[in-house]
Parts: sequence; structure tokens; C-alpha cells
Amino acid sequence: TAKLAGCATYRFHDASLNATSARQNELLARFKRAIRDEEFCLHYQARVDLQDFHVAGLEALVRWRHPEHGLLYPNDFIGLAEAHDLIVPLGNWVIEAACRQLAQWRQQGVPVKPVAVNVSAKQLKDDTLLETVTGALQRHGISATLLEFEVTESCLIEDLEFALSVLDQLQALGVRIALDDYGIGFSSLSKLKRLPLHAVKIDRSFIRDIRNDNSDAAIVASTISLAHNLGLMVVAEGVESVDQLVHLKTAGCDQVQGFYFQRPAAAAEVAAILQRGKFTLL
Ligand code: C2E
Ligand code: MG
Ligand code: MG
Ligand code: MG
Repeated sequence: TAKLAGCATYRFHDASLNATSARQNELLARFKRAIRDEEFCLHYQARVDLQDFHVAGLEALVRWRHPEHGLLYPNDFIGLAEAHDLIVPLGNWVIEAACRQLAQWRQQGVPVKPVAVNVSAKQLKDDTLLETVTGALQRHGISATLLEFEVTESCLIEDLEFALSVLDQLQALGVRIALDDYGIGFSSLSKLKRLPLHAVKIDRSFIRDIRNDNSDAAIVASTISLAHNLGLMVVAEGVESVDQLVHLKTAGCDQVQGFYFQRPAAAAEVAAILQRGKFTLL
């Protein structure tokens, strides 16, 4: 729609946005109407396979087209949403919007790939999550295999048993689940073993200096080996250079995401990437 198309065209960054509680209160007041008014939109970033650089999937990343502050990024508002019980309605909107977009691409003849949405701890605890997912899939005629979830270790801290039961049910539907930001939390290996995971995504903090920092390189190498031994696929986040890419490919990493290939972008731009289906190394 025209509304969504405007999403990528401007970026406003106000460093003081998080600074004052007056700003927080103003954002909060606005937030409640923003979902209804469709001020949120999704940007998408390709997940690229390291064998032949084909597009293996997309990650949906939420943005807020704020009428006064311009395009806001998750760091500006996800914390606020979490703190004020707005993350569930926002998360539900994200699931709905991702399915709607998949249906729209398909209708336009664009070859679609699975879309991963990020979910927060509170969303996993919400009793209506499964209904939301099945409802959105049905409404848009989307197969569950085209929807993926990214959970972080923080989703699993409070009530592991409940989170596990929800994730098991999602997996039974056909929804694949990745563990996001791996390495910066405190996952025990026994926890990792019990999760119905398809992939682990290595946090970008380990990728940044992978060429020079031996500890980071060692952590990444052992994570790849651990994950593979558990039958999981490995995705590296935050790949910005060809050097990082070569290192990760040599280390046996399966897939990458990062600015090197593509900055997250609005649906129209991503349609062209899906059409091409593949990146070429320069
Ligand atoms: P994430 O899920 O780990 O997403 C990856 C973040 O890294 C995104 O930031 C993406 O734009 C950024 N990124 C990708 N490639 C590169 C790179 O090469 N270099 C650098 N420096 N950054 C890169 P973004 O979009 O600002 O999102 C930040 C976080 O906000 C996400 O981290 C995720 O935890 C959260 N988030 C985003 N969308 C949603 C959502 O719909 N729901 C919830 N609950 N959280 C979301
Ligand atoms: Mg993610
Ligand atoms: Mg991540
Ligand atoms: Mg991250």
C-alpha cells in the first residue's frame, strides 16, 4: 500500500529521544493509537546462504513511522512497549503484517521465502499467541513453513516449561524457530538441547572483530561445531565486510545476514531481491 511504501524514504534520528521521561510519556501516549493508525511498518533483511549466496529467507524488523519524529527504530520503542504491556499488541500486528506481505508478494508473482519475526518473552507467555499465528496464516492463505520465529534467551528465563510448550506447539504447526543473539545470554547447554530449534543466530558482537580477536573467532568456531552436532543450522548476524564473510564461510557457517549484502529495506525494494533470488560477490 502507499502507506507502507513511504516507509523507507526518510530517517530521522534524535539522540535525545530516549533521554527524557517527558519524551517517553509522549511516545507512550502516541503508541497506543499508532497500532490502530497503521504507523508501524516492517523492513526486511535477507538471510543469505553461504554455499551459493541465494536468499534463504528474510527477517522482518519493525519500524515506527512517527508523525513528528520520523522513522523510529526498535531500540527507540521496544523497551517502552515491553514496559507498558504494548508488546503483545505490537507483536500480533507484526505477525499479521508479515503474513499479509507474504500474500501480497505471492499475488504479485514474487517468489517468496520464509519470513522470520522477532518475538518477545511476553508474547510467548500470551495465551492467544497460537490463535494469532494460525489466524494470520489462515486469513492470508500462508503455509506455516513460510513463517519463522526468532526468540532470545530472555524469552526462556522466567518460565522455561511454559515457553517450551508454546514453542513445541508452534513447531508442530510447522513454524521454524531460531535462537537469536546467541552467545550474549546465559543459555545452558541443557536448555539449548530441549528447545525445538531449527537454527542459532550468532550475535553480531562476536562477528564484529572476528578477523582480529582470537577469542571471538574461537567462540564462533565452537558455536558452529556445537550447533552442527546438535543438528542445527548456524546464521551469523551483522556481517559487514567480505573479510568477515570469507572467515565465516571457511569456518563452516551456513548463512549470514548483514549490511554487506543488504540493509533492511521496505517491501518494494525487497521484492526485487526476491526476484533475483541470489547475491553475487564483488
Ligand atoms: P535482531 O533481531 O538481532 O535484529 C538484527 C538487528 O541488527 C537489526 O536492527 C538489523 O537492522 C541490525 N543489523 C543487520 N545487519 C547489520 C549489520 O551488518 N551491522 C549492524 N551494525 N547491524 C545490523 P534493528 O532493526 O534496529 O532491530 C534491533 C532489535 O530490535 C532486533 O535485533 C530485535 O531484537 C528487536 N526487534 C526488531 N523488530 C522486532 C519486532 O517486531 N518485535 C520484537 N519483539 N523485537 C523486534
Ligand atoms: Mg532477530
Ligand atoms: Mg539478533
Ligand atoms: Mg542482535
